[in-house]
Amino acid sequence: MRRSLVVGNWKMNGSREKSRALVAGILAGLGEAAKADIGVCPPFVHIPEVAELLKGSPVLLGSQNVADQDEGAFTGETSASLLKEFGTQLAIVGHSERRALYGESSALVAARYAKAIEHGLVPILCIGETLEERESGRTFDVVGEQLNAVLDTAGVASLAKAVIAYEPVWAIGTGRTASTEQAQEVHAWIRARVAELDAAVAENLQILYGGSVKPDNAAALFSMPDIDGGLIGGASLDANSFLKIFHSA
Ligand code: PEP
Repeated sequence: MRRSLVVGNWKMNGSREKSRALVAGILAGLGEAAKADIGVCPPFVHIPEVAELLKGSPVLLGSQNVADQDEGAFTGETSASLLKEFGTQLAIVGHSERRALYGESSALVAARYAKAIEHGLVPILCIGETLEERESGRTFDVVGEQLNAVLDTAGVASLAKAVIAYEPVWAIGTGRTASTEQAQEVHAWIRARVAELDAAVAENLQILYGGSVKPDNAAALFSMPDIDGGLIGGASLDANSFLKIFHSA
């Protein structure tokens, strides 16, 4: 039985004060013995402080990216080992904003993913198609290519220590959510693709949905058989909304 996971991607939002208040709000409303796991990915500079605030809590700490290199002259990058020093456990890789706005290729994303795996960080691999790709019937080609890059670089066994987030680009930050059927269809396709290579890995793989998940649509999405939680952007910046989504999982 797969456990659900709900992760907040705070992106480049907030301030020290807002991050502190958000953590306090999340910790206050966690409740006991949750059925699901929960995590947050603050901006890099807030990671040390958020790590202190989360100590002793079940909330997982993640980064929004991770370097494809170990150390050296890579200005602007942050390595897995630097992140691990602060207790980071998760690392988002391949977010569509990185792919589209900063030109990150599937090969670079796969190299970042592989570094996370090598250092014991759990990568949350984001994959998803644009509206134009969906409307031209290329959803599975695009998602397949993004997945294959990682499979070719790190192998199917690595997915036993990773999480996938299906995030249709047209649903991110747009208020337009994939229908439960649209999301389930792609999640099932991803799981079947992994199962062709390793049925046990596929069965245990957590596949999150991301794209305008809100308190009022989370329960329906999470009730689908291949949706194992969510990667939440906008709604994760408000503790109450984020907790409602978490408690729906
Ligand atoms: C995201 O950025 O990963 C995301 C899903 O954003 P939003 O929930 O705001 O659509």
